[in-house]
This record gives sequence, C-alpha cells and structure tokens, in this order.
Amino acid sequence: MNLEEVPDLRPGPDEVVVRVKAAGVNPVDTYIRTGGYAVKPSLPYTPGADGAGIVAAVGSGVSRVSEGARVYVAGTVTTGTYAEQVLCKDWQVHPLPERVSFAQGAAVNVPYATAYRALFNRARAQPGETLLVHGASGGVGVACVQIAHAAGLTVIGTAGTARGLDLVAKEGAHHTLNHRAPDYLEQVRSLTGGRGVDLIAEMLANVNLGKDLTVLAPGGRVVVIGSRGTVEINPRDTMARDAVIVGMTLLNATPAELAGIHAALVAGLENGTLRPVVRQEIPLAEAARAHQLVMEPGAYGKIVLVP
Ligand code: NAP
Repeated sequence: MNLEEVPDLRPGPDEVVVRVKAAGVNPVDTYIRTGGYAVKPSLPYTPGADGAGIVAAVGSGVSRVSEGARVYVAGTVTTGTYAEQVLCKDWQVHPLPERVSFAQGAAVNVPYATAYRALFNRARAQPGETLLVHGASGGVGVACVQIAHAAGLTVIGTAGTARGLDLVAKEGAHHTLNHRAPDYLEQVRSLTGGRGVDLIAEMLANVNLGKDLTVLAPGGRVVVIGSRGTVEINPRDTMARDAVIVGMTLLNATPAELAGIHAALVAGLENGTLRPVVRQEIPLAEAARAHQLVMEPGAYGKIVLVP
C-alpha cells in the first residue's frame, strides 16, 4: 500500500463527501488486499469500509445530512475510507453523537453492524438467553458483548490474553474464559448448570465449530461470523440438541435490514450502551503496519488510521 495524492472528490446528486478524521481497520481489508477474498476490486483502489468525520459537501438531492455534520460511514461508493476524503451514498452516512469520538466512530460500522445482524437478524437472540461470544476481545466481539448485555442476555466472553479478558469483563460480560486454556469449554457447562448456552457468536469457526456444538443447550444456535479454514464436526451433536448453525455475512444485509441495524446502533451510541473501544491510532501513512497488527493475536478492540 502506498500513500498517494489524488484529486478532491465531488458528490453526485445523492452523494456525500466526508472529510475523514479516522478510518477503521478490519481483518477483511487484509483478505481483500491479498486477493484471497470474494470481493476483488479493480486496481488501484483505496481500502476501507469504515470511517468517521465531518460532512464536507452534499449533492443537490441530499436531505438526510448537511455540511458540517459529524457522521460515521458505513461503506463507500467507489473510494475507500483509508483517505482524507471519502464519497458515500447518503444512506451510507449516519449521525455520530457528540459523546463518541471520531476514532470510536471509525470502529462502528463493520464490527457493530456485524454483531447486531448476527445476534438478532440471523440467530434471533432473545432477552434472558445465554450467549457465548467466542472471541470477545476484538472489534466484533466487544460489540457483541455490549449489544447483548444491553439487550438482557447473560454473556460469557472469551479472550486469549489477561488484558483481553479484563476488557471483555469491563465491557459487560458476566463471565470470562480464556480460549487458550485447555479446559475452558468445560467451564461453559458449569457456568450454565450443565445446560449449555443458547447462542454462540463464533469468530474462528475453523478452530471451534466442532467443540461449539457440544456446549449448546437444547434449541441452541451457533452463528458463524469468522472462519479462516475448514473444520470437522459431528453432525449428531446438532441432532441431539435440535441445534442450528447459521452463517452470516454483512455483505448480504438488505437495505431495509441496514436501515434498522443503523437506527439501533445510533440509538445505542446516543444512550451510551455502545462504546467502541480503540486499542491504537496509527497514522494513515502506516496503513501497512496496521494490516500486520490486526492479524496478530492479543486483540483489544479496534485499530484505527488517522489521516
Ligand atoms: P479481531 O478484532 O482481530 O478479533 C479477533 C478475535 O478472535 C479476538 O477476540 C481474538 O482473541 C479471537 N480469537 C483468537 N483465537 C481464537 C480462538 N481460538 N477461539 C476464539 N476466538 C479466538 O477481528 P474482528 O474484527 O473482531 O473479526 C473477527 C472475525 O470475524 C474475523 O475473522 C473477521 O474476518 C470476521 N468478520 C466477519 C464478518 C462477517 O460479515 N461475517 C464481519 C466482520 C468480521 P485474542 O486475540 O484475545 O486471542
């Protein structure tokens, strides 16, 4: 990745130009960069789907936002958010409450929309249920913990470091477990009185899916959010429990779903139940370093780039 000067952006009639104050770095940005992902943009391109900043210009037909508004960005038209300016359709920008910093705003879109859609649109989470967030210390995991806690679920969150476990507890998990400890899934059983969990939000299905099925309660669901390879499962583990495995990709969200999801996220940011955690701010020119960091173990919320 290289930093280059390009001409200023101009909005079309239904478009908005945002002056980027911070851009969010997601694992998927690295999959796209390496060419190993379903989305293969034509080159050269600017990465990034997440960002926050100030509206710099609006097209003639835009009434949802006006110049000067603080916003977070949920996707872009052609140019990505790893930039000083970004071009969005008007429905891709959402108000950023004053209590939320630009760096936090850059941590909203992919992590929080993914967590929300996985839990509610796909896995039909209900208040009173017990949720295992398998990988709770990263961007999506922290979002799952905060959203589920606010919705009245009992949350068990895992992390692989002491620092990550502290974060998961601080952000609202009722119980924390270290996914590098040999017996941690036994503890899922004991924490639920032997019943198992109703729901699992799975960040690394290629490692965990087979084991997940053994700690599900009757009628339990696993929602597969992240996977980096293949895995063997015992299908009988689903039969015994009437269990369900559901996949989830944010790219499949319909415009109507996205409108509902972002309405919920803006409300949560406003009332303080959603508090994006920024682990590190890195200068935009060092985006390559951010791509290395985001793939290393020891997650702690989000990495953001600052132009
Ligand atoms: P992230 O910030 O890098 O976090 C990764 C998480 O996985 C951390 O909590 C990490 O914990 C945890 N982890 C590591 N080893 C694990 C293990 N053996 N078992 C359980 N968890 C483990 O990444 P993210 O942004 O939260 O994304 C998580 C995954 O979801 C990625 O694979 C990403 O590509 C995917 N994703 C999918 C969608 C979608 O639409 N389906 C959207 C966004 C993200 P420690 O570092 O503490 O060990």
